[in-house]
This record gives sequence, C-alpha cells and structure tokens, in this order.
Amino acid sequence: MRILVTGGAGFLGSHLCDRLISDGHEVVCLDNLFTGRKENIAHLLANPRFEFVRHDVVDPFKAEVDQIYNLACPASPPHYQYNPIKTVKTSVMGAINCLGLAKRVKARVFQASTSEVYGDPQVHPQPESYWGHVNPVGRRSCYDEGKRCAETLFFDYHRENRVDIRVARIFNTYGPRMLSDDGRVVSNFIVQALRGEPLTVYGDGAQTRSFCFVDDLIEGVVRFMKQTGTVGPINLGNPDEFTMLRLAELTLKYVGGKSKIVHKPLPADDPRQRRPDITLARRVLKWKPSVPLEEGLKRTIAYFRGRV
Ligand code: NAD
Ligand code: UDP
Repeated sequence: MRILVTGGAGFLGSHLCDRLISDGHEVVCLDNLFTGRKENIAHLLANPRFEFVRHDVVDPFKAEVDQIYNLACPASPPHYQYNPIKTVKTSVMGAINCLGLAKRVKARVFQASTSEVYGDPQVHPQPESYWGHVNPVGRRSCYDEGKRCAETLFFDYHRENRVDIRVARIFNTYGPRMLSDDGRVVSNFIVQALRGEPLTVYGDGAQTRSFCFVDDLIEGVVRFMKQTGTVGPINLGNPDEFTMLRLAELTLKYVGGKSKIVHKPLPADDPRQRRPDITLARRVLKWKPSVPLEEGLKRTIAYFRGRV
C-alpha cells in the first residue's frame, strides 16, 4: 500500500515509518519539523519506497494514498503550550485536511488521539466509555480540547460521509528518538541523570502515569489499522502504573551516578492519575504490551547515552 504518515519525522511517527517500510509499503512522510527531526528519518531517505514532504497540516494537501496515519501535533506540554493557538489549529485543521483527503481518495484514516481526552480523570482506570474531566480554559486545553474536537470530526466524517476511520487514544509512550529537550518526564529524567543534574519531580511526585514502550505501541497501532472489527475509540497503552517518584528512583538506579531528586511546582491541571483500561484492545486486537518499564527504560537510556 501507499501510506501517508503526518508527523512522520517525530518520535512515534518515525518509528511508524520504519515499521511500514519494513512491512513492504510505500510511505509518504509529511512533517513541518516543529518537534520532528530529519535525523529520525535520515536512514529512510535513500529508500525508493520512502518520500519526505515538508508541509504544515494546517494547509490542505493532496496525495494518492490507500491509508493515512494522522500523527502531526506536538505532544509534550512545553511544546504544545509554546504556541497554543497553533496547537488547536494543528489538531482541528489537520484532522479536517486528513479527513477531506481520506474522503476524496477513499483511504482508511487513523487519528492519534490521546489519554488527555480524559483530562484529570475521576474514573480509574479509564475505559473508552468514560467521557473525561477536562478543563476547557486551562494551559493544557489547547491540546486536550484540540484532540477532543479532532475525535468529534473523525466520528462526524464517519457518520456523515462514511469515511473509514480508526481513532486510538494513546497513553504516555516513551523510547528512543524522544528529543533530549522534549520536556516529557521519561526523557527529562534520563537526560538529567546522564548529565549528573538533579531530577526534577513536579509536585510531591505521587501523581501516576502508565508508560508504554514505543515498539509495543506501534504494534498496537498497526494491528488496529488492519482490523475491521472496531473504528474506536480504543485505548492503547501499558496498564502498569507508576508514581513519578518511583520513575525517578528507577531512572537513577539504571543510569547510576549521583543525581539527587528535587521538587518543582506542579504544573496547572496536571492529572493526578492515569492508567488505561485495555480490555477492548486485548479482545479486538489480541494485543497487550510486552516490554516492562525496567527493560524499556534501559533501552531508552542506551539511546540517550552519548547523545547528551
Ligand atoms: P512528536 O512531537 O515527536 O511528533 C509530532 C510530529 O508532528 C513532529 O514531527 C512535528 O514536527 C509534527 N508536527 C507538529 N505540528 C505539525 C504541523 N502543523 N504540520 C505538520 N507536522 C507537524 O510527538 P509524538 O510523541 O511522536 O506524538 C505523535 C502523535 O501521537 C501526536 O499527535 C500526539 O498527540 C500523539 N500522542 C503521543 C503520545 C505519546 O506519549 N508519545 C501520547 C498520546 C498521543
Ligand atoms: N513531570 C515531572 N518532572 C518532569 C516532567 C514531568 O515530575 O521533569 C511530571 C508531570 O508533572 C506529570 C508527569 O510527570 O505529572 C508526566 O508528564 P509528561 O509531560 O511526560 O506527560 P503528561 O503530563 O502529558 O502525561
């Protein structure tokens, strides 16, 4: 198949491009390189089945493709809050442009939605049936509400225009090719520990997240796109839940060195807890993550060693 990946030069997008190329597909990678890097896809540029297009998803685009994966959107809080209006445009206009193209060329289209649609959840763990607890006017809203609106657009195009959609709610995913200045917790802690700097735990560190290694996530995404049993929304993530303090301790243990833990103020609207209910993914995709946090952390640390 010929497949368009928006955000294909980013962390998840570049791993997805690798997977699709190794599965024998042709890949068009579209990215404006805001948080993505050519370095992430440099090894693919000489492949005749791979094409890079520098473009912004806010502006319409054309491509004769069989499938579209829409991943274009900054994912780290400091990056999506850098220009919040642009973040909303990227989510909403990007979705409209992908859906319009999918409608025209009759392509199946995937949306990288997020656990952020659940906000600071009052139901734990979060099943897909939970509608969420989201502040519409806070610092995280440009991302959360942008992604919620994108989900709405996907389901309206599906109902109104019979566009063949797949909507996945991705929970915190980490691994090689995250940016060293990404701002997300796993890369922050690893980079700080490798540099011998203090690890910055926000708040008391009792808040929880559930971390999925990138290889597991990509397997889930590809399986979801292949099957016809559900259009979603479907949770994809690792249900093993950790406090940020525990993550800091594990990072220190595997990196070694003498870094201390320091506490910094908790950002506004920071969710207290987050863990996916993956019953649906297990049943429909026969999928569950297989890389434990300890192993994934070691593989991510190996990537950052020598780079920071
Ligand atoms: P990332 O920042 O590494 O990748 C995003 C990519 O999109 C980058 O290459 C960036 O340059 C590109 N991009 C941003 N705005 C664009 C625009 N207007 N036009 C074209 N390209 C643009 O982040 P990631 O972790 O790889 O996330 C990829 C997708 O998955 C995002 O949509 C994100 O919301 C979603 N997601 C990621 C996670 C996670 O934990 N990694 C969790 C939930 C959802
Ligand atoms: N966090 C932290 N130190 C950091 C970066 C983040 O303690 O240097 C915390 C953050 O407050 C949040 C959790 O780690 O509670 C996950 O943050 P991240 O930005 O990775 O993802 P998100 O909040 O979007 O799930």
